[in-house]
Amino acid sequence: MRPPDSSVIPAPIPPPTSCYQCGKCTAGCPVADLVDLMPHQVMGLLQAGEVDAVLASEMIWRCVACHQCSDRCPKNADPAGLMDACRALSVRRGTAAPGVRRTVLFQREFLAGIRRDGRVGELGLIARFKTKALARDGSVPRLLQDAPLAPRLLARRRLSLTGDRVRDRALVARIVDRSLREDQ
Ligand code: SF4
Ligand code: SF4
Repeated sequence: MRPPDSSVIPAPIPPPTSCYQCGKCTAGCPVADLVDLMPHQVMGLLQAGEVDAVLASEMIWRCVACHQCSDRCPKNADPAGLMDACRALSVRRGTAAPGVRRTVLFQREFLAGIRRDGRVGELGLIARFKTKALARDGSVPRLLQDAPLAPRLLARRRLSLTGDRVRDRALVARIVDRSLREDQ
């Protein structure tokens, strides 16, 4: 199955001219201490037209899309929306940083599963993701590293064994395709 975002042409990232580098976005970001670029630095680079530097950063893939930054921004500059746009453009151009390529692969498989089945079947998603990741990096330890979590997830009903599908999968596929087009 083709990746769900392969038929769309991303728009250029607009420079966030309203940002005045106050840093409130970074102050509220839960991953700011763990990334190579903090949100206000991403905004500064985009203002300076340094889009390629942002697309090559790990930050856009470490962002957990909590929208704290956009909620806190006094200028409505929407850093979270720009992170999202940069992720989409990064996928399209194939510029994701080496350290986040597994994250990109997981996102592709997650969206492909939603598009195909209308919902995420955890076991199927894990199997597809792990198999493709193994083919890429050949790491058997990483293939098995999450297996010890399975009993606890099953006990808490956080892992579905059935892989259910929704009835109108074609409708969900159209929604996914449309949202990806509008996202970019
Ligand atoms: S994006 Fe908003 S919160 Fe972040 S530095 Fe710019 S103006 Fe401040
Ligand atoms: S949406 Fe991303 S960049 Fe913004 S606060 Fe959340 S994790 Fe940080």
